[in-house]
Amino acid sequence: MTQSPTQKFATQAVHAGASPDPVTGARVTPIYQTTSFVFNDPDHAAALFNLEAFGNIYTRINNPTQAVLEARVAALEDGTAALAVASGHAAQFLALHTLLEPGDEFIAARQLYGGSINQFNHSYKKFDWNVVWADATDASSFERAITPKTRAIFCESIANPGGIVSDLPGIAAVAKRAGVPFIVDNTLATPYLCRPKEFGADIVVHSLMKFIGGHGNSVGGVIVDCGTFDWLKSPHRYKSLVDPNPSYNGMKLAEAFGPMAFAIAARVLGLRDLGPAISPFNAFLILTGVETLPLRIQRQVDNARIVAEWLEKQPGVGWVNYAGLPKNPSYALHQKICPKGAGSVFTFGLKGGYEAGVRLVSALKLFSFLANIGDTRSLVIHPASTTHRQLRDEERAAAGAGPDVVRLSLGIEDVDDLIADLEQALAAI
Ligand SMILES: *Cc1c(COP(=O)(O)O)cnc(C)c1O
Repeated sequence: MTQSPTQKFATQAVHAGASPDPVTGARVTPIYQTTSFVFNDPDHAAALFNLEAFGNIYTRINNPTQAVLEARVAALEDGTAALAVASGHAAQFLALHTLLEPGDEFIAARQLYGGSINQFNHSYKKFDWNVVWADATDASSFERAITPKTRAIFCESIANPGGIVSDLPGIAAVAKRAGVPFIVDNTLATPYLCRPKEFGADIVVHSLMKFIGGHGNSVGGVIVDCGTFDWLKSPHRYKSLVDPNPSYNGMKLAEAFGPMAFAIAARVLGLRDLGPAISPFNAFLILTGVETLPLRIQRQVDNARIVAEWLEKQPGVGWVNYAGLPKNPSYALHQKICPKGAGSVFTFGLKGGYEAGVRLVSALKLFSFLANIGDTRSLVIHPASTTHRQLRDEERAAAGAGPDVVRLSLGIEDVDDLIADLEQALAAI
């Protein structure tokens, strides 16, 4: 491996986990487009199935292209190991599946990606995993939500869509006192802007199709084990980690794998049995994207700040909610948690309300009108008429998706062209 812990972030973004192919000399990590891998002999096969040796068996569980992506993201997040899966939702699901039993609770910040709110409120109920909501900017709200059934805490570092910054150190302290792992969805910040482990996170998840892949071309997700949670010393019994496992000859994963036990349990139990594997082709495209992560994110946060400052001065714009603006309520937390930039997704309000929002998305030419974030291309959406249209007015307002709200995700284009596009569209409404 051409990976070294002393290398700087931009070097690791290009090299961590990868080395030239030992057989062909191929410099770029190949797409191992194969479902299965031959065993050397029956003893080798037995060792792999018993988890006594690391190696490839079947692409649902592991694959060499995925393995490089996993090592790359683990290095960037300073984790011990990672697991790449089919989507960001699959990553959240497998992370919680590794921790929760029926009847357990977890506390989540209510400032969350809309799809996560649905997943937690509805699909998880079928497993009897019960979400309790708290406020990402107020760590004491997590403290108050702790009960004897709490087994995990979940929040986003920078929350989608509002762009608010979470009080990671405060929430981490609550998790520590409660003896439960702290999971941070770092999709909007990326490890370039914020490494949640430095603020007390034990597990980090990402939707890889957003900023890490960065080009809007492949769905994927990842779970990073920070190696910080001691499963054997926790006051709670995390069965997947500490109990003898009947499908692995009674092996106790936390004892066998120490600081990598969580990532291994998520793979050899959750991914093995539930199956949301990432395709080697998507892993390859995302790996190509990761190489330019620091360059792209720096340009995207620069563009976001310039556009936010410009929008504030426009007569048709009522307000701009970007944590990188000094008078924003999240500004102080942003300086502490992600000082290089407050991300590149933010919302603003049009004085002309709903009609103005609908007209703006139609009038923009360079910004793409679609439901995604984190692309090299600049993106726009009017939540009230699209992603949040099924909600009642009060629900929309509570979710930060009132009639006047427009969300931008800034790409890497020249900011002059982005401002020119916004200028002509604002004039057109
Ligand atoms: C998109 C997104 C997800 C879900 O990821 P998918 O890859 O779409 O499943 C989760 N969290 C955040 C913050 C997101 O932006």
